[in-house]
Amino acid sequence: MPELPDIQAYLAALGPRILEERIERVRLGSPFFLRTVDPPLEAVEGQRVTELRRIGKRIAIGLEDGVWLVLHLMIAGRLHWQAPGAKLIARRTLAAIDFAQGSLTITEAGSKRRASLHLVRGLDALEALDPGGLDVMTAPLVEFRARLSAENRTLKRALTDPRIVSGIGNAYSDEILHAARLSPIAMTGKLTDEQWHTLHDATMQTLDLWLKRFVAEAAAAFPEKVTAFRDGMAVHGRFGKPCPRCGAPVQRIRYADNETNYCAPCQTQGRLLADRSLSRLLGRDWPKTLDELETLKRR
Ligand SMILES: [Zn+2]
Repeated sequence: MPELPDIQAYLAALGPRILEERIERVRLGSPFFLRTVDPPLEAVEGQRVTELRRIGKRIAIGLEDGVWLVLHLMIAGRLHWQAPGAKLIARRTLAAIDFAQGSLTITEAGSKRRASLHLVRGLDALEALDPGGLDVMTAPLVEFRARLSAENRTLKRALTDPRIVSGIGNAYSDEILHAARLSPIAMTGKLTDEQWHTLHDATMQTLDLWLKRFVAEAAAAFPEKVTAFRDGMAVHGRFGKPCPRCGAPVQRIRYADNETNYCAPCQTQGRLLADRSLSRLLGRDWPKTLDELETLKRR
């Protein structure tokens, strides 16, 4: 699932291509992609793009008359920038947003139609789509700690809950916890002052590292290879491979359709818990699917 660094890279690539440009039309490849009926799709035709925003893991395209197109790519949705009038590929292209100088197309791999487009009018309606998570890039430590520890959760769950933290999912939470040398199943109610400090620093530094890298890449070319598994990641998607810090093999906790990766010497004092017992621990605090987590609404 595209997370904060990926979404910011998309926004960086979209800016020079569509800001101040007019939408000629929107073509839908899948009728299920558009989840709202009012304002109608025709309302965006001829409108100039005036603003781009990230709302959690969503991309919001603001138009001159106050209408917003809000894209949620979920797990398998991706953006592409193609020649004007790009063809819609059957069962793959969800929609094309046409501009004079190119088409922004949205595709989704697989057969599950989870990615969505909402059309809303006004900032209040836009904010209602925001699950309300904290912007960890700007939040001071005291606020970060207060939000993450408001409920006693596992660190993994607290970091990936869109109501608690904005824009972090399975991939970057693994990387952040490795950088902080903290266990994914440590409870937020039990962290020391020093651990909070370390987690806060690791969160900002990890996101900043990837954000800068992707935004620099997006300046050169539209991000066409957005994936949760990146060269240079320490543990995410690297089960069995050596930890870059200590060389021990990266471990995993499998739970339903999720996998959490961690390094035992670096994060759990070397403890290797069986998949089943870890799953049970995390299971009480972890929804069955990433979709379930992602659809949590603002309280
Ligand atoms: Zn290690």
